[in-house]
Amino acid sequence: MNYCSNCGSNKIHLKVPEGDTYKRYVCENCGRIFYQNPRLIVGCLATFDNKVLLCKRAIEPQKGLWNLPAGFLENGEKAEEGAARETKEESRAEVKIIKLHALYSLPKVNQIYLHFLARMQNEQFGPTKESLEVRLFAEDEIPWNKIAFQSTTFALKKFFEFGDGYPGVHIGSYEGMGKWKF
Ligand SMILES: [Zn+2]
Repeated sequence: MNYCSNCGSNKIHLKVPEGDTYKRYVCENCGRIFYQNPRLIVGCLATFDNKVLLCKRAIEPQKGLWNLPAGFLENGEKAEEGAARETKEESRAEVKIIKLHALYSLPKVNQIYLHFLARMQNEQFGPTKESLEVRLFAEDEIPWNKIAFQSTTFALKKFFEFGDGYPGVHIGSYEGMGKWKF
């Protein structure tokens, strides 16, 4: 951060504001504090006939590997709406959200994943600008060594272990940086 978006000053310093416990970017000219917080990534574990919908990524990071459809939540959007929107954008599938399935934290890269369990409304789906290929996978067909992100592996494993009748939310985290860089 070079310039203050409030006053235009370049006197931005990283410091712990009075009464705070974390370092923040603070404008020495106008006093504005710039809080930076984790980003929410929302997506769906969408099923049809007990098969799970996966997308082969057309973009980096992890291009060519399989992932549950997911993306950054937009301002003004409910989490479940964002998850259905991202699923439509990446796979063209129309889904009905059932429940929150998994909450997965990546503290080293400041990201929180929310994966919702969802039902596909019909068997229509296909490739998009974001997905080279979209496919339904039964449990024994999942390409476990070609999954893009730990968050997807976690959500899939919990789904196949506990089924879609599990009443709670599966909570997990990954303490490393992952195989990718941001
Ligand atoms: Zn300022």
